[in-house]
Amino acid sequence: MALRLFNTLSGKIDEFIPLDDKRVRMYACGPTVYDYGHIGNFRTFVAVDVLHRFLRQDGYELRHVMNITDVDDKIIRNSAKAGVTVREYTRKYEQAFLEDIDTLSIEQPELVRATDHIPEMARFIAQLEKKGYAYRTDDGSYYFRIAKFPGYGKLSKKDFSGIEVGARVDVDEYDKDNARDFALWKAPKPGEAFWETEIGPGRPGWHIECSVMSTMLLGPTFDLHAGGEDLVFPHHENEIAQSEAETGQPFVRYWFHVRFLLVEGEKMSKSLGNFYTLRDLVLKGHKPSSIRFLLASGHYRTQLNFTFDALKQAANSVERLRNFESRLKTERFAEGPEGTIGKLARETMGKMRAGLEDDLNTPQALGALFEMVRQANAAADAGQVTSGDVAPLQQALGQFDQIFAVLRDDDAPRMRRILDWAIADGKLDHAAKELVEVAGSNGLPDDQVDALVAEHERARKARDFAKSDAIRAQLAQAGIVVENTKQGVRWKRK
Ligand code: AMP
Ligand code: ZN
Repeated sequence: MALRLFNTLSGKIDEFIPLDDKRVRMYACGPTVYDYGHIGNFRTFVAVDVLHRFLRQDGYELRHVMNITDVDDKIIRNSAKAGVTVREYTRKYEQAFLEDIDTLSIEQPELVRATDHIPEMARFIAQLEKKGYAYRTDDGSYYFRIAKFPGYGKLSKKDFSGIEVGARVDVDEYDKDNARDFALWKAPKPGEAFWETEIGPGRPGWHIECSVMSTMLLGPTFDLHAGGEDLVFPHHENEIAQSEAETGQPFVRYWFHVRFLLVEGEKMSKSLGNFYTLRDLVLKGHKPSSIRFLLASGHYRTQLNFTFDALKQAANSVERLRNFESRLKTERFAEGPEGTIGKLARETMGKMRAGLEDDLNTPQALGALFEMVRQANAAADAGQVTSGDVAPLQQALGQFDQIFAVLRDDDAPRMRRILDWAIADGKLDHAAKELVEVAGSNGLPDDQVDALVAEHERARKARDFAKSDAIRAQLAQAGIVVENTKQGVRWKRK
């Protein structure tokens, strides 16, 4: 069997046949670095990582490019408000994004930054203007003339035949039913950041970034383009229009879109109080491996409902797999050739692969694996696993983990990194409070207690008694007593 994927462009599940035999070129829309990434963003990035890892496992040679959007309306607005340059403003969040993808064991794609390619964007727009697809307005901005591109709407399946010719929109994100000539280039308003280019001063629109950087690195036509479902219109529709207008060739062959994540059944939003960054969850004591497992366990085209119950179950699932893996390593099984359990492991490998080849059906792959673990554990309890069964069982776990990446127990250092960040960023009181929740469930590790005690001491010396008292109370809740002795500060567990 071969890989089959749902293709938004064709509207059906297609067999995946790359342009260049086993070499796959993929572009994924990356983060807009104006804030810390939230779990909705990471649902999409984890789903794309599952695709990335499965393509490699399935024998494809993959080139995977992801952009970093480090200039757009929000960034310009926020950096101006903060009184810093666009670069100063965005680098911090770009760095945070890199750490976050590492926290979630997402294999880092080849990254390209929008602001590193402004001259290429200006050039691309100049070409579009020459071909009649772009026009300049009096203030020096440029727009794409959608009436000139008959295929407009082919990805989002919208009928734009009745559009008002020449109506314009100049914001990066706009209404779903709003077909308008969209901004390619925005002339600077007073006080706004801008770049000097061959088409004049200004900054690129969001859509042009992706068209330019993807074709620049992957060629006029490439295999796969991925992103969250909200990007179908207008972002990806606009990318197609810009790219195909400029190159005269089909842009992307397979469009991969990930459905939105809900939190406790509702759309995630700050006003509903159900908005979580990855860091928020870790500071509440949730392990990165549980979060990754939960995000990867739902099929990418079904709406994933993120709940704290499901997160607990995900933690249990990871635990069960890790225990099984260590059982295989440490237990002595009766000498003997591969038997029924070994055979089951081989069948499971086939089923996992078949599940993933079927439009990346992760629940199906997981179902097969957990059934294997259940049967193997029961057989091992009954003394029916042989030494010859161990290798295929381990191989099946290995095949699973190449995609899911949760077996290695490196949660603690990753959590600690986030704790350090929270302390450095002055979020300690919040972090300390959340850590008490960790303490409640699995004991506060010594070095985290050390960090809190040190912070307590610093606050005390700085005569910030409100803070030192708060930390002491939080430590007390976690069963830690802090004592001031002649030798200095000590702590012990109650
Ligand atoms: P942004 O940083 O807003 O440009 O988004 C980065 C990626 O996250 C894009 O592919 C979005 O489509 C995706 N995304 C944003 N919100 C969600 C959500 N609630 N569920 C799934 N994906 C999302
Ligand atoms: Zn994009």
